[in-house]
Amino acid sequence: MRYDVVVVGAGPTGLMLACELRLAGARTLVLERLAEPVGFSKALGVHARTVELLDMRGLGEAFQADAPKLRGGNFASLGVPLDFSSIDTRHPYALFVPQVRTEELLTGRALELGAELRRGHALTSLEQDADGVTVSVSGPEGPYEVECAYLVGCDGGSSTVRKLLGIDFPGQDPHMFAVIADARFREELPHGEGMGPMRPYGVMRHDLRAWFAAFPLEPGVFRATLAFFDRPYADRRAPVTEEDVRAALTEVAGSDFGMHDVRWLSRLTDTSRQAERYRDGRVLLAGDACHIHLPAGGQGLNLGFQDAVNLGWKLGATVADTAPPELLDTYEAERRPIAASVLRNTRAQAVLIDPDPRFEGLRELMIELLRVPETNRHLAGLISALDVRYPMPGEHPLLGRRVPDLPLATEDGARRLSTYFHAARGVLLTLDAHKVSGDEAAAWKDRVDLVTAEGVAEPGSAVDGLAALLIRPDGYICWAGTPKTGTDGLTNALRTWFGPPAV
Ligand SMILES: Cc1cc2nc3c(=O)[nH]c(=O)nc-3n(C[C@H](O)[C@H](O)[C@H](O)COP(=O)(O)OP(=O)(O)OC[C@H]3O[C@@H](n4cnc5c(N)ncnc54)[C@H](O)[C@@H]3O)c2cc1C
Repeated sequence: MRYDVVVVGAGPTGLMLACELRLAGARTLVLERLAEPVGFSKALGVHARTVELLDMRGLGEAFQADAPKLRGGNFASLGVPLDFSSIDTRHPYALFVPQVRTEELLTGRALELGAELRRGHALTSLEQDADGVTVSVSGPEGPYEVECAYLVGCDGGSSTVRKLLGIDFPGQDPHMFAVIADARFREELPHGEGMGPMRPYGVMRHDLRAWFAAFPLEPGVFRATLAFFDRPYADRRAPVTEEDVRAALTEVAGSDFGMHDVRWLSRLTDTSRQAERYRDGRVLLAGDACHIHLPAGGQGLNLGFQDAVNLGWKLGATVADTAPPELLDTYEAERRPIAASVLRNTRAQAVLIDPDPRFEGLRELMIELLRVPETNRHLAGLISALDVRYPMPGEHPLLGRRVPDLPLATEDGARRLSTYFHAARGVLLTLDAHKVSGDEAAAWKDRVDLVTAEGVAEPGSAVDGLAALLIRPDGYICWAGTPKTGTDGLTNALRTWFGPPAV
């Protein structure tokens, strides 16, 4: 069987992409090198924009069940929380959901939607021509080949797909070298000063240019991080041992605090790189495969998840042959600058968490700025990804912005806008049917749903004064009409984002 899309990697990016592709009707195969899911979580949270997108796909409740809500965001552990409630969202918080759980939920959804997932099957090479891609796979029963129209490498920071394509991965080498342990401790951990709300325990050593920080993962279990600056690992490739962590703890904090029941050991640096291109013909990259950075502020998983939501409907429409030819290229054009901005803010955070006394003035200044509501709001928008704006032609300030989850008054009663996006289709929302009837979108009804609302049950909402909005499947506004402008430009926007009308 020939697949429409082969997704390489069943991490959060690949799994979400598989869900989106299946909603678009693409025959999708996910290849995952590991025979079993890993039992540990790198990422521990999802930010507000990801929560909104999960809601739009009907997954919000499953993710929110039992998940603690973190209302204050963290920037460089400076101790002044980011105020997510300063942004117009129904979800002014990050959800504490370990990556293992995120992957479990997304795997269940991808399978339910009909994606095929082969665990223990690794991509080893690929060849492409004008018609498709031939993928060489190493599986439990030996090597074999798969044919597909497109392939997406969601295979993490050391992406084989990126390397096979010869795409450069330029960036900055690390200056922070950390070891991590998820473990229990017999002795009470020291309460840290200046480590910020996310890291209630820790020790800061300006003299050593090092720190220890820990926060609770579950009752009695902590994630402990020991970071040293400009002190490279003796052997970067050697696995971290309990002894390494004990020695680092003793050096920085004077004790190993009776560490035991160690569940996960790893290394962490602030290496930051971005792929030079996200696409080579019929092969694309998403998630960590095209950007890596310090996990400061917990942005990486969210960035990959949102790559997947941006790419999914565009690639789905391309394989269904309804997309305009340029649509697929808007993925890189839109997402590359967003990742570049995350790299920038994480590089800035990497400097701010360096205890070198030379940076003390910078830290103090940043703390002052975080106390200014406008600056705090700016950084909350960056870290939560709620402020993402894609470049789009047109004047209206909402163009390229996410649509908030508006409470609509409809013929069927009160309904949230997010509930109209479960199938990942476009939505033409008319708020003033006298001015915009929606008839112009009838020829796109196989791709765009018409939602007629009498109004928005929220005074002062972002869409006040608008007659209609055209919203892409990923929740970004691509056309806005006022009672004065009516449907001017609507047909053009429908063609640009959804292709030619059905005949
Ligand atoms: C300590 C730490 C803490 C973090 N905390 C956060 C946080 O709080 N919030 C946040 O948003 N992010 C955080 N991150 C980052 C986040 O974990 C990553 O950004 C995220 O895992 C990227 O997802 P991905 O699907 O793109 O790649 P990955 O999760 O790396 O998944 C790639 C998958 O591809 C598979 N694969 C690789 N090669 C092949 C092949 N040849 N064939 C088939 N399969 C292959 C791998 O086995 C893997 O399953 C953290 C990272 C670290 C290290």
